[in-house]
Parts: sequence; C-alpha cells; structure tokens
Amino acid sequence: MPIDATQPYDDQNIFAKILRGEIPSQRVYDDEFAIAFHDIAPQAPTHLLVIPKGAYVSWDDFAARGSDAEIAGFVRAVGTVARAAGLVEPGYRLLANVGQHGHQEVPHLHVHIFGGAPLGPMLA
Ligand code: 5GP
Repeated sequence: MPIDATQPYDDQNIFAKILRGEIPSQRVYDDEFAIAFHDIAPQAPTHLLVIPKGAYVSWDDFAARGSDAEIAGFVRAVGTVARAAGLVEPGYRLLANVGQHGHQEVPHLHVHIFGGAPLGPMLA
C-alpha cells in the first residue's frame, strides 16, 4: 500500500531496521550519510536502493528538513554507488517515489538505481 508522504517518521519502518542492522540486506555501500543495498525484488538486472542515514520519510521531507551537508552527501552517495556498480556507461535510471500517486511503499526516503539493460523510455 502506498504511504502518505506527509506522515511523521516511523522508526519501525523496514528501511530503518535495515539501517540499524536489525534485519539483513545485501549492503553494497556505507558512508557518513547513506547506505545502499540490493532491492529484494529487483525490477532490472541491477536494482539498488540508496537511503539516507537521517530519519526522512520522503524526498519532500528530505528537501524540506535535510541539512545542506546531508543532501550533498546523499546525492554524492547515489552517484558513487552507481559508478561503483559499473553503470555510468552505458547508463542507468534513478527513481524516487513520493506518496500515494508516486506509489511509495516504504516510509524512509530511498532512491532506486536501475541498470544493467536498456530500460526503455519509462518504467511502468
Ligand atoms: P517504493 O515503492 O517504496 O519506492 O519501493 C520500495 C522498494 O523496497 C521495492 O522495490 C521493494 O522491493 C523494496 N523492499 C521492500 N522491502 C524490502 C526489504 O525488506 N529488503 C529490501 N532489500 N528491499 C525491500
């Protein structure tokens, strides 16, 4: 079920638990601002999720409340993860779902990185 992106942060959400190491994930990256791990149900040959370490519900929440250092650190982390996965050439796609119409299901900001095959003009 998609979430309401304006809801308060719930520290029991699944990505908060992954961040704290309470449930396992295939982690590929970890720095001061972000971690990245493989999506449990990949929709492309490479499907990674990058999440900030801070408690932010959505892109909207992060843009409104994140510090400049957190935002810069997170954006750099997304680029670093994609580069490290070998996706820069021939390319990849970023996606951040927000709220009901964006079909955001997990209420901790995450950016999807899709790659490893031609993705077409848009994902469904
Ligand atoms: P959203 O629709 O919120 O943008 O995407 C949530 C993503 O999280 C989905 O692609 C889903 O497969 C992934 N996901 C949900 N639960 C887990 C989990 O427990 N572990 C991992 N690695 N991915 C998850």
